[in-house]
Amino acid sequence: MRLLEEYTSIQYIQFSFIREIEYYGKSLVGKPIGNQETQINSNVSTSRAEEVIAPLTAPSETVFICSDVYRKQAFGNNHPLSIKRVAGVMDLSRMLGWLDGDCYLESPRASERTLRRFHHPDYIDALIRADSTGSVEQDVRVKYRIGTMENPLFPGLYQRASTAVGGSILAAEQALLGKTAFHPSGGTHHGRPNRASGFCFFNDPVFAILTLLDGGLDRILYVDLDAHHGDGVQDAFADDERVFTISVHEQKRWPYSGLVNDRAVTAARNLPVPRGFNDSELEYLMEHAILPLSRGFSPQAVVLTCGTDALDGDPLSRLKLSNLALWRAVERLLELTGHNVVLGGGGYNPWTLIRCWTGLWGRLSGRVIPECLPLAAQAYLQALECDLVDEEDIRADWLTTLADQPSPGPVRAEIKRCADAVTA
Ligand SMILES: [Zn+2]
Repeated sequence: MRLLEEYTSIQYIQFSFIREIEYYGKSLVGKPIGNQETQINSNVSTSRAEEVIAPLTAPSETVFICSDVYRKQAFGNNHPLSIKRVAGVMDLSRMLGWLDGDCYLESPRASERTLRRFHHPDYIDALIRADSTGSVEQDVRVKYRIGTMENPLFPGLYQRASTAVGGSILAAEQALLGKTAFHPSGGTHHGRPNRASGFCFFNDPVFAILTLLDGGLDRILYVDLDAHHGDGVQDAFADDERVFTISVHEQKRWPYSGLVNDRAVTAARNLPVPRGFNDSELEYLMEHAILPLSRGFSPQAVVLTCGTDALDGDPLSRLKLSNLALWRAVERLLELTGHNVVLGGGGYNPWTLIRCWTGLWGRLSGRVIPECLPLAAQAYLQALECDLVDEEDIRADWLTTLADQPSPGPVRAEIKRCADAVTA
């Protein structure tokens, strides 16, 4: 199977002990945190947590959309998505007091009728049948790509997949009210109308965009920062000039689409990037391609897919971003409009994923990112497990912090050529 064939152990770059940096003109990360070899920093408590990252200025009203559905074991064993993901984001956010008040909205489930707006009725029926019986015939497996290693059957599959769609619809409804809606369970960007693809049974970003269009908007910007091409979303709106899609993804990686000259029928841009893609290169693409293209489109609403598989340390890709760079890119895109949907996406390292999306929620909701996590949060991170990350590769700061070390580097010529090509 395609994605699973990509398992490789990554040669991690040498751990950097430098904590004092200037990042994008702002001092984001503060003082040294001492002995990086310490797995649990017992000297740090919540009250001592220092303000290392300033909150966003004047954030718009933000909501966090999720569900306890995601606490159930899913995807079986030996699947990259069997790790703890959004449940960990909820737990860590609660430990930090970031889900207090009325910012949390329970994700509803999308009805069959709603799902039929994009997905074929025969595919939905097949999925419901497979979910209820726990098995699929060979012809169903081949036709709809369900019950495979890639898109396995597991108890609660249909509920989970339809809840992700319901959550993204709710997120778009909140965005229409002028809010920024964070829905980390969303981002199933490979889902096809008539089949599962790349771990995605449905395509919730498509429903977020449809909901914004229903709301009367006619210029929706979709930016996909996941390590894989946002093929399902691009193709869904390939002939709809109301939707402009931009995808940044690792070149020569599944699904192998999204080449730099692929502009769909109306408006799409693709920025395939090489291995080792670093923070400086993302900043360059933001400055010279993504933001100019986005501003040129004059979007009324923005939908983002923010998979964490583009971060350094992810076992299914070879990109080297820090979460600081991802947060920064998201924040700059959200400045474009007051109607924002921020979705999750891929991400197969539970430490980098949970820290990134928890920190992203903190940023979006105007919280200060602590330099060191409270002890309970550190213990929570230490208890995580992942078969795809070797124990010796678990970095000390994955267990004690939210913010990564920055990952700057040279901006390679092919990055500059890519920016030139998509803006030409
Ligand atoms: Zn991905």
